[in-house]
Amino acid sequence: MGKRKFKPDSRPRHAKQPRSSYTKPLKNEINFRYFVPTCLHCNEPATRAVFRDVAGAITEETRADLLDRHVWACQPCSAYVLCHQHEGQDTWCALGRPADRETRNARLVLHRRIDPFFAAAETSRVRYARRNTVYQLMGSVMGLRNPAEVHIGDMSVDDMRRVHKALDEVRFDNIGFMDVDEVMSAMRVKTLQLLLSGTRQSNRQV
Ligand SMILES: [Zn+2]
Ligand SMILES: [Zn+2]
Repeated sequence: MGKRKFKPDSRPRHAKQPRSSYTKPLKNEINFRYFVPTCLHCNEPATRAVFRDVAGAITEETRADLLDRHVWACQPCSAYVLCHQHEGQDTWCALGRPADRETRNARLVLHRRIDPFFAAAETSRVRYARRNTVYQLMGSVMGLRNPAEVHIGDMSVDDMRRVHKALDEVRFDNIGFMDVDEVMSAMRVKTLQLLLSGTRQSNRQV
């Protein structure tokens, strides 16, 4: 079975998407500013594409649910990343940096580890507080002080290994037995310790 040819997107950045079977052109696309993400592995600018056009070239995954999705891809690295959706339609805002299969799987695993913790929150206030605290913890591992800058989609396998270790250290998977305040203070202490122990390092280099 030959691999399907990779079709790079050569349309100008703000050109309307051609009308096709997969999706309507995004009415407000121009309002969604996006930047061209760089590949996690080679650091080269990624290429816009629709998953079905790159699927054979970058991954053996047959994900029928993804065929119409916007992606940013790096073919030489077999890397891609999905884009944010807005009101059920894809924007061209990447969810992170294109990455290979191992990294994408690791991102899913990390999401599966932390997301239920937010979903289980009794109120949106608690959910926000939990999320903020966990992202702060992850930020301390990543060398980012602002939790808003922390995106699992930007992480490498090595970043995530360190994040899991930090989550192990706060016994993240046992927090179901603690009340919210205990979790918060455990995480705050741990975050502080991580910051002080020089675990902090920049991940933003090539
Ligand atoms: Zn690459
Ligand atoms: Zn994510």
